[in-house]
Amino acid sequence: MPVTEPENLDPIAISEQQFDHAVCYIQKLKKGLIEFLKKPKRITIVNFPIEMDDGSVQSIQGYRVVHNRVFGPGKGGIRYHPDVTIEEVIALAKLMTWKCALVNIPFGGAKGGVVCNVKALTENELRRITRRFTSELADNIGPYTDIPAPDMYTSEQTMAWIFDTYDVLHPGENNRPVVTGKPVEMGGSYGRHEATGNGVYHVTERFLSKALIAEQQTVAGASIVIQGFGNVGAISAQAFFRNGAKIIAVSDSQGGVYCAEGLNPDELLAFKNEHGTVVGLRDTMTVTNEELLELECDILIPAALSHQIHADNAHKIKAKVVVEAANDPTTPKADEILAERGIYLLPDIMTNAGGVTVSYFEWVQNQANQQWDIEEVNARLQKRMYKLVDVVFDRWQGFVVGEETPSDEESIKISGGKKPDFRSIALSIAIERVAKATLLRGIWP
Ligand code: NAD
Repeated sequence: MPVTEPENLDPIAISEQQFDHAVCYIQKLKKGLIEFLKKPKRITIVNFPIEMDDGSVQSIQGYRVVHNRVFGPGKGGIRYHPDVTIEEVIALAKLMTWKCALVNIPFGGAKGGVVCNVKALTENELRRITRRFTSELADNIGPYTDIPAPDMYTSEQTMAWIFDTYDVLHPGENNRPVVTGKPVEMGGSYGRHEATGNGVYHVTERFLSKALIAEQQTVAGASIVIQGFGNVGAISAQAFFRNGAKIIAVSDSQGGVYCAEGLNPDELLAFKNEHGTVVGLRDTMTVTNEELLELECDILIPAALSHQIHADNAHKIKAKVVVEAANDPTTPKADEILAERGIYLLPDIMTNAGGVTVSYFEWVQNQANQQWDIEEVNARLQKRMYKLVDVVFDRWQGFVVGEETPSDEESIKISGGKKPDFRSIALSIAIERVAKATLLRGIWP
């Protein structure tokens, strides 16, 4: 049923709404502590000039937000995008705090952004923007204060430039842990590039093994639809395909392709590398990104942009499980509609946590000047992802069977007396951990 009133898609409003739902499932926190947990610790906004290749000068704005450092240094990517806003960066920094706490790694949450259009810049211009942005951030980043990583339109090369700039400004120290997602030749970790996509796969297979969907307890034979065939989407597709799933549709910014008999991700990648899009691959039917989301399938994986599943299309989703590989692809209203329709949703905070997990492995390796082999990285990743699903599932089940209940009358009202969703439960575990650590540290002075 289409909804007439437009949803509030402000990223901070969405993150607050998700937070308010989650705290229903933990012991009541003091009001002031809740306020502290919601707000970012530090916001840095910098403006700087850049000389372009043609001699002109452009003014560039960049952001770095540290949301919380109770568990350790801030951790989070830097995205380069013409539409990036400070509100978006704040919301994503918060998500990083909860993600790190949920996977139990000793980091807080942070995020960064630079307002620029990578597609319109040369490599030299990008290098100058990256170096100047890094020097403007100065000691706001550092191996023990705030550790950036790649995000949309930033890459291993961007991280190498950030490391080099920071290293020039801090000679004589082991500066490798100042950024993760570096090239393997520069102290990057084996398996980091594939970590988020492989994590998506491990979270899904562990979830299916819990037998909530009687007819689909393994990945084998499952039909999969993936929106976004970039790093995360393509690596996820390969992992599902290797394990016997059928990838029936994928898409990129130019549209999607569908084949009921199944697509081969390696063929898709080769075609995309040659043509710049998956659209046009032989023996496939072209679909729009909107149609793709509404295809009948077992598992739908949004792996591109935020707010793709919303109030106006959530009632048309035909998947049994939605697996959020992208950050924030589902709006709160869509969360409600999917839950009412009995469609399970595995939230971003769990599903795409593989990336930050291997970033943490990289940071650990850098401290010790070591490089683990790929088998070791992958085995450690799988173990962490399984554990994460088990912890969330056990808490969720506690509420479903009634062993646990929302903490007070107000919480019962907010939760609507309904079964909890996995997002609220995963977030509640993370919030509870950060709240407890805040109090254990002792509020200073
Ligand atoms: P990417 O840039 O490699 O890939 C994005 C893909 O989305 C591209 O194929 C692009 O063509 C496609 N796309 C863009 N607009 C689209 C549209 N309107 N419809 C369909 N597809 C569209 O980015 P990525 O690293 O794969 O990240 C994807 C998502 O995963 C983002 O939300 C990101 O924040 C999230 N994420 C990534 C990582 C990571 O380690 N890369 C970690 C956690 C979360």
